[in-house]
Amino acid sequence: MSGNNEPFDVVVIGAGLGGLHCAQLLGERGARVLLVDRKRALDEAVHTTGIFVRRTLEDFALPEDCLGPPVRHVTLYSPARRALSLESPFDEFRVGRMHKLYLRRLAECRRAGVVWSPSTRYAGSVEAAQSSSLVRLESDGRGREVRARFVVGADGARSRVGRDLGLDENHEWIVGVEEVLSGVPLAGPPRFHCFLDPRLAPGYLAWLVHDGEEVHLGVGGYAARFNPVSALGEFREVAARVVDLRGATVTERRGGQIPVGGVLRRIANRRGLLVGDAAGAVSPLTAGGLDPCLRLSGLAARVITDYLATGDPVALAPYSGDAFRARFVSRLWMRRALKTLTHPRLLELSCATMRLPVFKQLAWHVFFGRGSFPEVESAAIQPVTARESAAF
Ligand SMILES: Cc1cc2nc3c(=O)[nH]c(=O)nc-3n(C[C@H](O)[C@H](O)[C@H](O)COP(=O)(O)OP(=O)(O)OC[C@H]3O[C@@H](n4cnc5c(N)ncnc54)[C@H](O)[C@@H]3O)c2cc1C
Repeated sequence: MSGNNEPFDVVVIGAGLGGLHCAQLLGERGARVLLVDRKRALDEAVHTTGIFVRRTLEDFALPEDCLGPPVRHVTLYSPARRALSLESPFDEFRVGRMHKLYLRRLAECRRAGVVWSPSTRYAGSVEAAQSSSLVRLESDGRGREVRARFVVGADGARSRVGRDLGLDENHEWIVGVEEVLSGVPLAGPPRFHCFLDPRLAPGYLAWLVHDGEEVHLGVGGYAARFNPVSALGEFREVAARVVDLRGATVTERRGGQIPVGGVLRRIANRRGLLVGDAAGAVSPLTAGGLDPCLRLSGLAARVITDYLATGDPVALAPYSGDAFRARFVSRLWMRRALKTLTHPRLLELSCATMRLPVFKQLAWHVFFGRGSFPEVESAAIQPVTARESAAF
């Protein structure tokens, strides 16, 4: 670990997928990077199911041994458990072996020269001289300060870094809890079962994904409208009618908050920027955040590199949530619709319409379409307005 006075170019707070990706890219571009996480080890307390969509699998070289077998089949169940099956000719989903993936990405960070500090909690930051920040960190009850030219908040849905930097904060969340099971036989091809049920999963869905090796069974929804733990217990009984859970054992429990209000508007200023959940970079409709956090971290690494090289805050202007939000409009509307479908009969009716070819096409598009997050490169390459450049 660097001494107190040796400045880093960038301190990255949080070593989830967003922070790891950003730190690695910055390290590979020659920046002196400190990566910290409050976790002791990255393979502890994994909170995500880890389903990667086709677009991510095609665009990012994820290590083959960190992914489960491909899934091409989805069954969508209405509240009355009427099933609608969808099949894709492509490998649409793969469940990440997230413990392994985080450790692998960390090893890549270290190879790129990133300094790693586990068991280290971010406790605040203040602006310091020469356009830098003093970042307060705590490990084993002891505090220290490090100086950095730039701070990256990759610290998840309730970002403390974002608040300290005066950037926008998430205000709309769903909560997800799940169990990872072993000992569940697979009948038929690997399948992603999605249950729409406003009682068990208000505003979102309950899921069971079985890729032939791993089974994840979970519920998600607006926290104020349900008790996730008892809903998960009830859902297990529902799921047992679809897959044979008699010999199942729970090997792990996961869960956490997922921001679904769309990417935040102000996600960067001259002191730092936000990536991943901290930036609200999650599809408001599907609540998928793994693809967005990789894409946004790629753009973040690029604008930070430019900023460090030039010292000109205009280099950060492309990193504006406004550029992405415009492309989120339809998904934000669909989220509003899903949120208001609180009555089972109303939801049942909507599911019935999905049997009509045009709506079935829509369901197909939601599950298999390639639009979980806007293409950040094209969204960001827009002329910088005077107002935007002044904002930095
Ligand atoms: C139950 C559940 C299931 C999900 N399933 C999927 C899915 O299947 N597919 C998908 O695409 N998305 C899924 N998501 C969403 C997805 O997991 C997230 O969008 C994604 O993991 C966000 O990554 P991140 O790096 O931004 O944040 P995180 O993975 O949350 O990482 C933040 C890191 O910051 C650290 N940290 C926080 N505060 C501090 C601090 N003060 N000091 C130091 N370190 C700190 C944390 O320890 C953590 O390691 C799911 C989410 C949940 C909760």
